[in-house]
Amino acid sequence: MSNPQTTRRDFMRATGASLAAASIGSAVASADQGAATAPPARTFGYAIVGIGSLAEADILPAFAHTQRARLMGLVSGDAAKARETAARYGMPERGLYTYDTFDRIADNPDIDAVYIVLPNNLHAEYTIRAHKAGKHVLVEKPMANTVADCEAMIAAAKAAGRQLAVGYRLRYEPFTEAMIRMAREQEFGALGAIVCEAGFNIGNPAQWRLQKAAAGGGSMMDIGIYAVNAARYLSGEDPLEVTATESTNRSDPRFKEVEDTVHFHLRFPSGLIASCLSSYTVNLNRFRVHAQRGSFEMEPAWNRTGLRLRVLRGSVVEQRYLPQRDHFAAMMDHLAERAAAGTAPLTDGVDGLNDMKVIEAIYASIQQRQPVRIG
Ligand code: NDP
Repeated sequence: MSNPQTTRRDFMRATGASLAAASIGSAVASADQGAATAPPARTFGYAIVGIGSLAEADILPAFAHTQRARLMGLVSGDAAKARETAARYGMPERGLYTYDTFDRIADNPDIDAVYIVLPNNLHAEYTIRAHKAGKHVLVEKPMANTVADCEAMIAAAKAAGRQLAVGYRLRYEPFTEAMIRMAREQEFGALGAIVCEAGFNIGNPAQWRLQKAAAGGGSMMDIGIYAVNAARYLSGEDPLEVTATESTNRSDPRFKEVEDTVHFHLRFPSGLIASCLSSYTVNLNRFRVHAQRGSFEMEPAWNRTGLRLRVLRGSVVEQRYLPQRDHFAAMMDHLAERAAAGTAPLTDGVDGLNDMKVIEAIYASIQQRQPVRIG
Protein backbone atom coordinates (compact mmCIF):
# COMPACT_ATOMS: atom_id res chain seq x y z
CA MET A 1 0.00 0.00 0.00
CA SER A 2 1.33 3.48 -0.83
CA ASN A 3 1.93 6.00 1.90
CA PRO A 4 -0.85 8.54 2.30
CA GLN A 5 0.13 11.84 0.81
CA THR A 6 -0.97 14.91 2.77
CA THR A 7 -2.09 18.02 0.96
CA ARG A 8 -3.15 21.26 2.64
CA ARG A 9 -6.18 23.28 1.84
CA ASP A 10 -7.03 26.24 3.92
CA PHE A 11 -10.76 26.68 4.25
CA MET A 12 -10.25 30.11 5.73
CA ARG A 13 -9.17 31.45 2.35
CA ALA A 14 -12.80 31.24 1.31
CA THR A 15 -13.79 33.63 4.07
CA GLY A 16 -10.85 35.99 3.55
CA ALA A 17 -9.50 35.28 7.01
CA SER A 18 -5.90 34.23 7.63
CA LEU A 19 -4.69 31.26 9.62
CA ALA A 20 -2.75 33.56 11.91
CA ALA A 21 -5.94 35.38 12.76
CA ALA A 22 -7.69 32.18 13.88
CA SER A 23 -10.12 33.29 16.53
CA ILE A 24 -10.95 31.53 19.75
CA GLY A 25 -13.78 33.90 20.45
CA SER A 26 -17.45 33.30 20.02
CA ALA A 27 -18.20 33.35 16.32
CA VAL A 28 -21.68 31.87 16.07
CA ALA A 29 -23.20 35.17 17.06
CA SER A 30 -20.71 37.34 15.21
CA ALA A 31 -21.00 35.42 11.95
CA ASP A 32 -24.60 36.57 11.66
CA GLN A 33 -23.85 40.19 12.39
CA GLY A 34 -21.66 41.23 9.48
CA ALA A 35 -18.45 43.23 9.75
CA ALA A 36 -20.04 46.69 9.96
CA THR A 37 -22.26 45.97 12.97
CA ALA A 38 -21.12 46.98 16.45
CA PRO A 39 -20.59 44.07 18.84
CA PRO A 40 -23.64 43.29 21.01
CA ALA A 41 -23.61 44.27 24.67
CA ARG A 42 -22.69 41.58 27.19
CA THR A 43 -25.98 41.81 29.02
CA PHE A 44 -27.30 38.25 29.09
CA GLY A 45 -26.66 36.95 32.61
CA TYR A 46 -25.97 33.29 33.34
CA ALA A 47 -26.04 31.50 36.67
CA ILE A 48 -23.80 28.42 36.65
CA VAL A 49 -25.25 25.58 38.71
CA GLY A 50 -22.58 23.25 40.14
CA ILE A 51 -18.95 24.33 40.33
CA GLY A 52 -17.34 21.03 39.34
CA SER A 53 -14.60 20.10 36.92
CA LEU A 54 -16.33 21.18 33.70
CA ALA A 55 -17.49 24.49 35.15
CA GLU A 56 -14.02 25.24 36.55
CA ALA A 57 -11.99 24.15 33.54
CA ASP A 58 -14.12 25.34 30.64
CA ILE A 59 -17.36 27.16 31.36
CA LEU A 60 -16.23 29.87 33.74
CA PRO A 61 -13.11 30.70 31.66
CA ALA A 62 -15.35 30.86 28.55
CA PHE A 63 -16.91 34.10 29.77
CA ALA A 64 -13.66 35.78 28.70
CA HIS A 65 -14.63 34.94 25.09
CA THR A 66 -18.35 35.70 25.06
CA GLN A 67 -19.94 38.60 23.25
CA ARG A 68 -23.40 38.52 24.82
CA ALA A 69 -23.18 36.30 27.89
CA ARG A 70 -21.84 37.31 31.27
CA LEU A 71 -21.48 35.53 34.60
CA MET A 72 -24.05 36.82 37.09
CA GLY A 73 -24.79 33.84 39.32
CA LEU A 74 -23.29 30.76 40.94
CA VAL A 75 -25.21 27.95 42.60
CA SER A 76 -23.20 25.60 44.76
CA GLY A 77 -23.31 23.38 47.82
CA ASP A 78 -19.95 24.80 48.88
CA ALA A 79 -20.37 28.41 50.04
CA ALA A 80 -16.65 29.12 50.44
CA LYS A 81 -15.84 27.83 46.93
CA ALA A 82 -18.72 29.85 45.49
CA ARG A 83 -17.56 33.07 47.19
CA GLU A 84 -13.97 32.51 46.08
CA THR A 85 -15.09 31.77 42.50
CA ALA A 86 -17.29 34.88 42.43
CA ALA A 87 -14.36 37.01 43.57
CA ARG A 88 -12.04 35.44 41.00
CA TYR A 89 -14.46 36.25 38.16
CA GLY A 90 -15.53 39.65 39.49
CA MET A 91 -19.10 38.50 39.97
CA PRO A 92 -21.37 40.29 42.44
CA GLU A 93 -22.13 38.32 45.65
CA ARG A 94 -25.85 38.99 45.21
CA GLY A 95 -25.72 36.24 42.56
CA LEU A 96 -24.66 33.51 45.01
CA TYR A 97 -27.15 30.73 45.80
CA THR A 98 -27.18 27.29 47.39
CA TYR A 99 -29.34 24.42 46.17
CA ASP A 100 -31.82 25.32 48.93
CA THR A 101 -32.06 28.99 47.96
CA PHE A 102 -31.92 28.29 44.20
CA ASP A 103 -35.59 29.16 43.56
CA ARG A 104 -34.91 32.75 44.66
CA ILE A 105 -33.19 33.39 41.33
CA ALA A 106 -36.74 34.22 40.22
CA ASP A 107 -36.24 37.57 41.99
CA ASN A 108 -32.84 38.28 40.43
CA PRO A 109 -33.16 40.30 37.23
CA ASP A 110 -29.39 39.97 36.55
CA ILE A 111 -29.93 36.30 35.73
CA ASP A 112 -31.53 35.53 32.37
CA ALA A 113 -30.46 31.90 32.08
CA VAL A 114 -29.25 29.04 34.19
CA TYR A 115 -26.48 26.71 32.95
CA ILE A 116 -26.84 23.33 34.68
CA VAL A 117 -23.54 21.51 35.14
CA LEU A 118 -24.62 18.99 37.78
CA PRO A 119 -24.47 15.16 37.77
CA ASN A 120 -26.94 13.81 35.20
CA ASN A 121 -29.67 12.75 37.65
CA LEU A 122 -30.09 16.37 38.79
CA HIS A 123 -30.51 17.88 35.31
CA ALA A 124 -34.29 17.45 35.11
CA GLU A 125 -35.04 18.79 38.59
CA TYR A 126 -32.94 21.94 38.20
CA THR A 127 -34.13 22.60 34.65
CA ILE A 128 -37.74 22.45 35.77
CA ARG A 129 -37.06 24.64 38.82
CA ALA A 130 -35.18 27.19 36.69
CA HIS A 131 -38.00 27.38 34.16
CA LYS A 132 -40.50 27.81 37.01
CA ALA A 133 -38.33 30.71 38.15
CA GLY A 134 -38.81 32.24 34.69
CA LYS A 135 -35.28 31.58 33.39
CA HIS A 136 -33.95 30.19 30.13
CA VAL A 137 -31.93 26.99 30.55
CA LEU A 138 -28.78 25.51 29.09
CA VAL A 139 -28.38 22.00 30.46
CA GLU A 140 -25.32 19.82 30.03
CA LYS A 141 -25.49 16.53 28.17
CA PRO A 142 -27.04 14.06 28.66
CA MET A 143 -30.17 16.19 28.93
CA ALA A 144 -31.56 13.80 31.61
CA ASN A 145 -31.49 10.14 32.53
CA THR A 146 -34.81 9.15 30.93
CA VAL A 147 -37.05 10.05 28.01
CA ALA A 148 -39.82 10.86 30.49
CA ASP A 149 -37.60 13.41 32.26
CA CYS A 150 -36.65 15.02 28.92
CA GLU A 151 -40.33 15.36 28.07
CA ALA A 152 -41.07 16.94 31.46
CA MET A 153 -38.24 19.45 30.89
CA ILE A 154 -39.57 20.40 27.45
CA ALA A 155 -43.04 20.84 28.94
CA ALA A 156 -41.62 23.08 31.69
CA ALA A 157 -39.87 25.29 29.12
CA LYS A 158 -43.08 25.57 27.12
CA ALA A 159 -45.17 26.41 30.18
CA ALA A 160 -42.68 29.11 31.18
CA GLY A 161 -42.33 30.49 27.64
CA ARG A 162 -38.55 30.16 27.96
CA GLN A 163 -35.87 28.53 25.78
CA LEU A 164 -34.26 25.21 26.65
CA ALA A 165 -30.88 24.28 25.15
CA VAL A 166 -28.79 21.13 25.60
CA GLY A 167 -25.02 21.56 25.88
CA TYR A 168 -23.98 19.86 22.65
CA ARG A 169 -21.02 22.21 22.33
CA LEU A 170 -19.68 20.58 19.12
CA ARG A 171 -22.58 22.02 17.16
CA TYR A 172 -21.15 25.49 17.81
CA GLU A 173 -17.62 24.93 16.52
CA PRO A 174 -16.27 25.16 12.95
CA PHE A 175 -15.01 21.61 12.36
CA THR A 176 -18.34 20.03 13.17
CA GLU A 177 -20.12 22.72 11.17
CA ALA A 178 -17.89 21.88 8.18
CA MET A 179 -18.55 18.13 8.54
CA ILE A 180 -22.29 18.76 8.57
CA ARG A 181 -22.04 21.03 5.53
CA MET A 182 -19.96 18.45 3.63
CA ALA A 183 -22.50 15.75 4.44
CA ARG A 184 -25.61 17.80 3.67
CA GLU A 185 -24.23 19.35 0.48
CA GLN A 186 -22.92 15.95 -0.60
CA GLU A 187 -19.51 17.40 -1.42
CA PHE A 188 -18.23 13.88 -2.11
CA GLY A 189 -21.47 12.44 -3.44
CA ALA A 190 -24.20 10.49 -1.73
CA LEU A 191 -23.47 9.21 1.75
CA GLY A 192 -22.81 5.47 1.98
CA ALA A 193 -22.04 4.88 5.66
CA ILE A 194 -21.35 6.70 8.91
CA VAL A 195 -18.96 5.50 11.61
CA CYS A 196 -18.93 7.27 14.99
CA GLU A 197 -16.68 6.16 17.82
CA ALA A 198 -16.42 7.85 21.20
CA GLY A 199 -14.70 6.55 24.29
CA PHE A 200 -12.04 7.01 26.95
CA ASN A 201 -10.51 5.05 29.80
CA ILE A 202 -12.42 6.13 32.90
CA GLY A 203 -10.58 6.34 36.23
CA ASN A 204 -11.75 6.41 39.85
CA PRO A 205 -14.35 3.65 40.44
CA ALA A 206 -16.01 5.78 43.17
CA GLN A 207 -17.06 8.67 40.90
CA TRP A 208 -20.75 9.42 40.20
CA ARG A 209 -20.31 8.61 36.48
CA LEU A 210 -20.02 4.94 37.48
CA GLN A 211 -23.11 4.97 39.71
CA LYS A 212 -26.27 4.06 37.84
CA ALA A 213 -28.60 6.25 39.91
CA ALA A 214 -26.51 9.37 39.32
CA ALA A 215 -25.32 8.80 35.77
CA GLY A 216 -28.32 6.95 34.35
CA GLY A 217 -25.97 4.40 32.75
CA GLY A 218 -22.36 3.99 31.75
CA SER A 219 -20.35 5.01 28.72
CA MET A 220 -23.48 5.47 26.57
CA MET A 221 -24.81 8.27 28.77
CA ASP A 222 -21.52 10.10 29.09
CA ILE A 223 -19.51 9.65 25.89
CA GLY A 224 -21.45 7.35 23.56
CA ILE A 225 -24.09 10.08 23.41
CA TYR A 226 -21.63 12.05 21.25
CA ALA A 227 -21.65 9.21 18.72
CA VAL A 228 -25.46 9.12 18.75
CA ASN A 229 -25.72 12.88 18.33
CA ALA A 230 -23.07 12.91 15.56
CA ALA A 231 -24.75 10.09 13.64
CA ARG A 232 -27.97 12.13 13.77
CA TYR A 233 -26.49 15.47 12.74
CA LEU A 234 -24.26 13.98 10.02
CA SER A 235 -27.09 11.99 8.46
CA GLY A 236 -29.62 14.76 9.06
CA GLU A 237 -32.09 12.04 10.08
CA ASP A 238 -33.49 10.39 13.17
CA PRO A 239 -32.91 6.63 13.26
CA LEU A 240 -35.81 4.19 13.01
CA GLU A 241 -34.14 1.19 14.57
CA VAL A 242 -31.13 0.21 16.64
CA THR A 243 -29.21 -3.02 17.16
CA ALA A 244 -26.79 -3.02 20.09
CA THR A 245 -24.47 -5.38 21.94
CA GLU A 246 -22.47 -4.80 25.10
CA SER A 247 -19.06 -5.86 26.31
CA THR A 248 -18.43 -5.23 30.02
CA ASN A 249 -16.02 -6.92 32.40
CA ARG A 250 -18.17 -7.05 35.53
CA SER A 251 -15.21 -8.04 37.69
CA ASP A 252 -13.65 -4.61 36.97
CA PRO A 253 -14.53 -2.45 40.04
CA ARG A 254 -15.56 0.39 37.72
CA PHE A 255 -18.34 -1.61 36.12
CA LYS A 256 -20.36 -2.95 39.04
CA GLU A 257 -23.38 -0.87 38.07
CA VAL A 258 -22.92 0.49 34.56
CA GLU A 259 -21.89 -0.72 31.11
CA ASP A 260 -18.47 -0.31 29.55
CA THR A 261 -18.33 -0.82 25.77
CA VAL A 262 -21.36 -0.78 23.48
CA HIS A 263 -21.40 -1.52 19.75
CA PHE A 264 -24.52 -0.21 18.04
CA HIS A 265 -25.95 0.24 14.59
CA LEU A 266 -28.52 2.89 13.78
CA ARG A 267 -30.75 2.42 10.75
CA PHE A 268 -32.06 5.69 9.26
CA PRO A 269 -35.20 6.20 7.14
CA SER A 270 -33.09 6.77 3.99
CA GLY A 271 -31.53 3.33 4.41
CA LEU A 272 -28.24 4.77 5.68
CA ILE A 273 -26.65 2.92 8.60
CA ALA A 274 -24.35 4.34 11.26
CA SER A 275 -21.97 1.91 12.97
CA CYS A 276 -21.01 3.26 16.37
CA LEU A 277 -18.92 2.46 19.43
CA SER A 278 -19.06 3.82 22.95
CA SER A 279 -16.49 2.88 25.58
CA TYR A 280 -15.23 3.55 29.07
CA THR A 281 -12.01 1.55 28.56
CA VAL A 282 -10.58 2.51 25.18
CA ASN A 283 -9.89 5.89 23.63
CA LEU A 284 -12.17 6.41 20.65
CA ASN A 285 -12.37 9.84 19.10
CA ARG A 286 -13.45 9.67 15.46
CA PHE A 287 -16.54 10.52 13.42
CA ARG A 288 -16.27 9.45 9.78
CA VAL A 289 -18.58 9.74 6.79
CA HIS A 290 -18.01 7.49 3.78
CA ALA A 291 -19.42 8.99 0.60
CA GLN A 292 -19.32 7.96 -3.07
CA ARG A 293 -16.20 9.93 -4.03
CA GLY A 294 -14.35 10.03 -0.73
CA SER A 295 -14.56 9.96 3.02
CA PHE A 296 -14.27 12.76 5.54
CA GLU A 297 -13.59 12.50 9.20
CA MET A 298 -12.85 14.31 12.41
CA GLU A 299 -10.17 12.85 14.67
CA PRO A 300 -10.03 14.00 17.40
CA ALA A 301 -13.73 14.49 17.02
CA TRP A 302 -15.10 15.43 20.45
CA ASN A 303 -12.25 17.15 22.34
CA ARG A 304 -12.75 20.66 23.63
CA THR A 305 -9.70 21.90 21.66
CA GLY A 306 -7.43 20.62 18.92
CA LEU A 307 -10.08 19.11 16.66
CA ARG A 308 -8.97 17.97 13.22
CA LEU A 309 -10.76 17.39 9.93
CA ARG A 310 -9.44 15.26 7.08
CA VAL A 311 -10.69 14.25 3.67
CA LEU A 312 -9.56 10.85 2.37
CA ARG A 313 -9.66 10.00 -1.33
CA GLY A 314 -7.78 6.86 -2.28
CA SER A 315 -4.21 7.40 -1.11
CA VAL A 316 -4.64 11.17 -0.76
CA VAL A 317 -5.28 12.57 2.71
CA GLU A 318 -6.20 16.24 2.80
CA GLN A 319 -6.10 18.15 6.07
CA ARG A 320 -8.59 21.00 6.33
CA TYR A 321 -7.61 23.90 8.54
CA LEU A 322 -10.24 25.89 10.37
CA PRO A 323 -10.17 28.35 13.27
CA GLN A 324 -10.50 26.94 16.77
CA ARG A 325 -13.45 28.44 18.61
CA ASP A 326 -14.38 28.37 22.29
CA HIS A 327 -17.29 25.93 22.15
CA PHE A 328 -18.79 27.05 25.45
CA ALA A 329 -18.63 30.77 24.70
CA ALA A 330 -20.25 30.24 21.31
CA MET A 331 -22.98 28.08 22.83
CA MET A 332 -23.76 30.53 25.64
CA ASP A 333 -23.88 33.43 23.18
CA HIS A 334 -26.11 31.44 20.86
CA LEU A 335 -28.71 30.85 23.56
CA ALA A 336 -28.55 34.55 24.47
CA GLU A 337 -29.23 35.47 20.87
CA ARG A 338 -32.05 32.96 20.42
CA ALA A 339 -33.65 33.89 23.75
CA ALA A 340 -33.72 37.54 22.68
CA ALA A 341 -35.27 36.56 19.36
CA GLY A 342 -37.75 34.19 21.03
CA THR A 343 -36.64 31.30 18.82
CA ALA A 344 -35.48 27.79 19.70
CA PRO A 345 -31.74 27.18 20.02
CA LEU A 346 -29.90 24.94 17.56
CA THR A 347 -29.53 22.16 20.15
CA ASP A 348 -32.94 22.39 21.77
CA GLY A 349 -34.77 20.08 24.13
CA VAL A 350 -36.08 17.97 21.26
CA ASP A 351 -32.50 17.29 20.15
CA GLY A 352 -31.67 16.05 23.66
CA LEU A 353 -34.90 14.05 23.84
CA ASN A 354 -34.22 12.35 20.49
CA ASP A 355 -30.80 11.22 21.68
CA MET A 356 -32.35 9.80 24.85
CA LYS A 357 -34.90 7.89 22.78
CA VAL A 358 -32.01 6.30 20.89
CA ILE A 359 -30.11 5.51 24.09
CA GLU A 360 -33.14 3.91 25.74
CA ALA A 361 -33.60 1.81 22.59
CA ILE A 362 -29.91 0.83 22.72
CA TYR A 363 -30.32 -0.42 26.29
CA ALA A 364 -33.51 -2.28 25.29
CA SER A 365 -31.73 -3.89 22.33
CA ILE A 366 -28.87 -5.04 24.59
CA GLN A 367 -31.35 -6.58 27.00
CA GLN A 368 -33.61 -8.16 24.41
CA ARG A 369 -30.70 -9.26 22.17
CA GLN A 370 -32.53 -8.06 19.09
CA PRO A 371 -33.14 -4.93 16.99
CA VAL A 372 -35.44 -2.37 18.63
CA ARG A 373 -37.63 0.21 16.88
CA ILE A 374 -37.17 3.73 18.17
CA GLY A 375 -40.45 5.15 19.41
P1 NDP B 1 -18.25 17.11 38.61
O1 NDP B 1 -18.53 15.95 39.48
O2 NDP B 1 -16.83 17.53 38.45
O3 NDP B 1 -19.06 18.39 39.10
C1 NDP B 1 -20.42 18.33 39.40
C2 NDP B 1 -20.73 19.41 40.44
O4 NDP B 1 -22.11 19.31 40.74
C3 NDP B 1 -20.01 19.22 41.76
O5 NDP B 1 -18.75 19.79 41.79
C4 NDP B 1 -20.96 19.91 42.73
O6 NDP B 1 -20.71 21.30 42.68
C5 NDP B 1 -22.33 19.70 42.09
N1 NDP B 1 -23.13 18.67 42.78
C6 NDP B 1 -24.33 18.88 43.33
N2 NDP B 1 -24.82 17.77 43.87
C7 NDP B 1 -23.90 16.81 43.66
C8 NDP B 1 -23.84 15.44 43.97
N3 NDP B 1 -24.83 14.82 44.62
N4 NDP B 1 -22.75 14.75 43.62
C9 NDP B 1 -21.74 15.34 42.95
N5 NDP B 1 -21.75 16.65 42.60
C10 NDP B 1 -22.82 17.38 42.95
O7 NDP B 1 -18.89 16.77 37.19
P2 NDP B 1 -18.53 17.38 35.78
O8 NDP B 1 -18.29 18.83 35.90
O9 NDP B 1 -17.47 16.56 35.14
O10 NDP B 1 -19.88 17.09 34.97
C11 NDP B 1 -21.07 17.82 35.20
C12 NDP B 1 -21.99 17.67 33.99
O11 NDP B 1 -21.34 18.17 32.84
C13 NDP B 1 -22.38 16.23 33.66
O12 NDP B 1 -23.72 16.17 33.26
C14 NDP B 1 -21.47 15.85 32.50
O13 NDP B 1 -22.05 14.90 31.64
C15 NDP B 1 -21.31 17.19 31.81
N6 NDP B 1 -20.02 17.30 31.11
C16 NDP B 1 -20.02 17.73 29.83
C17 NDP B 1 -18.83 17.90 29.15
C18 NDP B 1 -18.85 18.48 27.80
O14 NDP B 1 -17.81 18.50 27.16
N7 NDP B 1 -19.98 18.98 27.31
C19 NDP B 1 -17.54 17.53 29.75
C20 NDP B 1 -17.64 17.14 31.14
C21 NDP B 1 -18.85 17.01 31.77
P3 NDP B 1 -20.76 22.22 44.00
O15 NDP B 1 -19.68 21.69 44.90
O16 NDP B 1 -20.51 23.57 43.50
O17 NDP B 1 -22.14 22.04 44.59
